[in-house]
Amino acid sequence: MEVFFFVGIGLLCMVSFIFKLLTLRGSTAAFITGALIFYSFAWQGLVILAVFFLTSSLLTKWKREVKIDYNAEPLEDKKGRTAGQVFANGGTSSLAAIGDILMPDPLWLMVFAGALATATADTWASEIGILSKTKPFHLKEWRKVEAGLSGAVTGLGTIAAVLGAAAIGASYYFLFDSSTFMGTLIIIFAGFFGNVADTLFGAWFEQKYYCQVCKTETESKWHCKMKTVRIFGLPWVTNNLVNFSSTIIGALIAGGLYTWTVQ
Ligand SMILES: [Zn+2]
Repeated sequence: MEVFFFVGIGLLCMVSFIFKLLTLRGSTAAFITGALIFYSFAWQGLVILAVFFLTSSLLTKWKREVKIDYNAEPLEDKKGRTAGQVFANGGTSSLAAIGDILMPDPLWLMVFAGALATATADTWASEIGILSKTKPFHLKEWRKVEAGLSGAVTGLGTIAAVLGAAAIGASYYFLFDSSTFMGTLIIIFAGFFGNVADTLFGAWFEQKYYCQVCKTETESKWHCKMKTVRIFGLPWVTNNLVNFSSTIIGALIAGGLYTWTVQ
């Protein structure tokens, strides 16, 4: 019976590659993530992963024509999410699955959900927040900046972050434990504050580039079809590292709160 699930995960990854939601290596990374999560958290865990992946993919494609100016890496972007992006968003939940295999404990399920709630909150906040009519406010520079930079917030993006975390919290409620709202609340809290950590990491540590064509700051190495110049940040602090670190924070918050409330 289980073998059908692994085949199903493989098929979904292939379909995601064909529809350009994932690159070839990205779909391999997604298969590993999906297989580990199914092994530890059963089909219910897979559904939670799917809620993250499908909503994120749809939101990324949604109003693509409006966003195209900001995500100006014309060649890379159209092929789908890379293995690095898959591990940045799903790596912590895979580690939770491995933790559960080595030392089975209900704690790992909360760690897993906290990490995915953060990834979902972050993606929803970026993809919806970028459509905000008002300019985002940068937390480190303490002023309004152009749309599309990490470390900046909008009201719309903040609401989207809460809803993204709530989507994972609600899924947990219906799939794992509808006897109490406690787990759901912990996941929403962890996802939201994981996303706050993402914004703070992005504001203080992430690389910024400058486009010499349109004279704006960006975090893309490419803008207006030209290479940009790095003006801030360490070369190894990429958006993927920032995302991965924030899912660790979300996972720690969820695991910490769970341990605290259970005892
Ligand atoms: Zn430009």
